[in-house]
This record gives sequence, C-alpha cells and structure tokens, in this order.
Amino acid sequence: MIEWIPFEKLTNFQIIREEELRMIFMATWLDGIRIIEGEPVEYTQSCIESCGVNLIILHDLQTCDSFIKELTNYMQLEGNVVYGITQNTKTNQYIIVIPDEFNSRRNNSNGVCKYCKCYNTSPAWCQSCDPRREVLKWTHENKGINNLIKEFQFKATEYEKVVEWIQFDKLINLQEIKGESDFVSMATWVKGVRTFKGESGKFTQSRTISSVDLMKLNYSQTSTLELVENFKVLMQLEKYRIHGITQNTENGQFVLVIDFYNDKRKSINGICKHCARYNTNPVWCQLCDPPKKIQETSGDKNIDDCIMEFQFKATTYETVIEWIPYNRLGNIKEIGRGGFGIVYSSIWLDGKRTVEGDDSLGYAPYREKSCEVALKTLPGSQTNSSEFLNEDMYVR
Ligand SMILES: [Zn+2]
Ligand SMILES: [Zn+2]
Repeated sequence: MIEWIPFEKLTNFQIIREEELRMIFMATWLDGIRIIEGEPVEYTQSCIESCGVNLIILHDLQTCDSFIKELTNYMQLEGNVVYGITQNTKTNQYIIVIPDEFNSRRNNSNGVCKYCKCYNTSPAWCQSCDPRREVLKWTHENKGINNLIKEFQFKATEYEKVVEWIQFDKLINLQEIKGESDFVSMATWVKGVRTFKGESGKFTQSRTISSVDLMKLNYSQTSTLELVENFKVLMQLEKYRIHGITQNTENGQFVLVIDFYNDKRKSINGICKHCARYNTNPVWCQLCDPPKKIQETSGDKNIDDCIMEFQFKATTYETVIEWIPYNRLGNIKEIGRGGFGIVYSSIWLDGKRTVEGDDSLGYAPYREKSCEVALKTLPGSQTNSSEFLNEDMYVR
C-alpha cells in the first residue's frame, strides 16, 4: 500500500547517482516499512523500526499532474515497488519513496556504512554510498580514461574490486620480468592494494603496500578507444585482479596495473618473500622465484642462459633444473655404455628438491640429505656447449 510520507520522517540523505531524468537518493525512513507479523489467522500489522529507502526526484516536474503521470508510469513497470510519496518542504518537489535497491545484500557481518548507517552490501563496502565517493575523489584530463574508470567504479560490488587511476610516481622499484611476456614488468605500489581489515561486523577499508604487475595495453597513439575496448574485455575475463590504470610519465603510455597470477595465488602455498603475495604453488611464486633461482654458475654463458631459460618456465619448486657443481656428486660408477653416451650412477650430495607438508599444515621447501641419481654423458659436449644444448636439452 502506498502512503503519504511526511518529509521530516526521512533523514540521512545521501545522493547515490544522477541520471538523465532523475536523481536517486538514499535516506533513512524513521517509521519504517509496513510488514505483517505473526502466524496465519493472527497476523498483526507492524512497521520495521526505521530502514533505508531510496528516493527518486524527477527533474523538471513543476506540476502535480505531471508528477502523478510519471509515478503511474513508474509503478506500471513490472516489479517496481513504491512505498509512498513525500514532498520536500523547502523546494516543494514531489519525491517517490522506493525500496533500497541493495537491501537483500545488506548483512550485519559486513559492518555498518558510515554514510547511510545501514549494513554494508559487502565487507566495508556500501554499494549505495561508496561507488559515488570513489568517483568524486579524482578526475583525469583524458576523457576516455576518465569515463572508463568511473563507469567501472560505479558498478563495483566490492571494495577490493574497485579499479582506480594510479599515479605513476606511486609505483617504485620498477623491474622487468624476464621470461614472461614482453608486456609485463613488476613494481611496488606504495599507495597499496585495497584490502579490508578487522573482524566480521567491523570490517574497515584498508591498503597494503604490495607488488603489482604492469601490463602494456595495445592501442593506437591517437585514440584511447581501442584501449577502452581492450580494458573491457580484460575486466570481463576476470583472469587478473585489475587494480587500475597508470600512465608512464616518460613515454606517455597507459599501462594496466594488475596481479598477473591472482587466480593461482592461494594462502595455503605460503607467502612469497620477494613480492609478499601468496605463492602460486607450494613455496613457489611463479613470478618471482624463477628469476632469482640461478645460484651456481657453470662458467659457460650458453649453459647458464639455457638453465635460466628453463628456470623461468618452472611452475613448481620441484621441477626447477639447476647447475650442479661436479664436486657435489660422489661415488660415481659406470653402469652402461652405448651410442647415446655413457651412463653412471652417483650420489648427489645436495639431494633432490621436494616440498613437504599438506593443505592443512602448509608447505615448506625441503632437500633430502643426498640421493641416488644417474649421470649421462652427451656426445660432442666436451668442446662446444651450444652443440650440447641443441642436441639434448630441448628433447627433454
Ligand atoms: Zn551506505
Ligand atoms: Zn612473488
């Protein structure tokens, strides 16, 4: 049932958004909506004690007649519920009072919104109030970029999923990521990625300084239209966690700031010491660990480069290949000979790489004390390392 709602029964006005023909506000209705209480046959009429509602204020409506026409139109649209009508006592504007559009997602475990005082729609995030505030915080002179980011900010359903404009000087320690696609480098974002802290019911918005990955976007220099399209495709894919867009101040290029391996990072794998993010595999960060791994050098550049190439591709700690100094191999015995070379058995003093632990305990890298291995000589490998590499390394 629709009722007349005295304007003074509405407080806590928050503008949510402005559309072409109307403005949507959020407010608290002190009387609250009508509900029915009790068992069948003994129903009683009741009101929820104050609740959040949305208000529609139509632009350019001077007369009562045109307001009634618009209200009738609105109510005839399928599913549109109207609680009542009120009139702004100062401006005399008529206002339609409708349900809070996000009411079904408000939950006390998400904490209370400091603007509208209702429960948040996700941890530390009120979808009625927060998107607008994000949008108002900044502007970018490039209209395409400005509108693109704001469009996604308006739609953000969670604090951690908000994309933003990122100032290039807030990205430090820029370093190329070797072995990955040419389009990716890594940096530390000093403003920090969005995260919420606190316990259930008291979540607050927070930031953590974190490593991020930078990805160049393909677009023509003259127009950002292509960039906008590429960005939308990536947002839809949901493969990466996208933090925002920045512009390299040296070359003017727009760059995407993302977490490249977000879908693989899991807390159970432990935290990467290098980028402080969760590892992609048990005790292994696929982004940071491969470039750091070469410890021993063979003394031959071709061999080192080859080992490094395979180390970059290693997806787990156990499958890393490495240079093994000859003096770490003991007790060498010949066990076979043929056209393929000679095979020896030996004890590797450092032992194989293994990972200990399980999903409930967590993981730790582990090397057995020593283990038995087989050695195989490769034909033609005494004089020319590149021949050795071509013949054998790539066949594995
Ligand atoms: Zn709110
Ligand atoms: Zn890492």
